[in-house]
Amino acid sequence: MKAVFFDKDGVLNKDSGIIWPKLELPYKQVADVISNLRSQGFLIFIISNRTEMARGLATEEEVVKSLLDFKLQIIEQNKEAIIEKIYYCPHHPNATIETYRANCSCRKPHSDLLIKAKEEYNICLNKSFMVGDRVSDIIAGNSVGCKTIQIISNENLVEKLIESNISEEIINSYSSPHYKITHLTQIYEIIS
Ligand SMILES: [Zn+2]
Repeated sequence: MKAVFFDKDGVLNKDSGIIWPKLELPYKQVADVISNLRSQGFLIFIISNRTEMARGLATEEEVVKSLLDFKLQIIEQNKEAIIEKIYYCPHHPNATIETYRANCSCRKPHSDLLIKAKEEYNICLNKSFMVGDRVSDIIAGNSVGCKTIQIISNENLVEKLIESNISEEIINSYSSPHYKITHLTQIYEIIS
């Protein structure tokens, strides 16, 4: 199987900078983009770093519910816009809540969540795409052999990768996306 992995905040919805409660709606073109990619034979996944639990702002159940609500909002717009699964990392190296304090290997730029999807859905990563706005999305995708698409917007945040416990060598080798776009629908120019 081939897949398109999407980062969530800043890609499928506006990144308001508000961590919790999560109220952002999906961008209106998202459902049609997902439906189109599915019609081309791609499975669709969301790969997301969630820091709400680590910061003590929400329980894991509340975060999972907000992610499922998000998925339902998309499918309400287009019934073919099925997201197969949402993978999230609940950890943070500086978490205030001890349960979630970890230098894990599932928080992007690490790629364990992509590997997990590969194993659970028999995904061929070389035929798959990772779409994100941050360098950490691009590193995660490139380091497992996905094609990577970076959405460049004015809202792109300067990202601190120092905390992520990843080597400079990896950052330098994997930070460049295969494609850069400014709008989600430009994905049709790459995948069609
Ligand atoms: Zn993690």
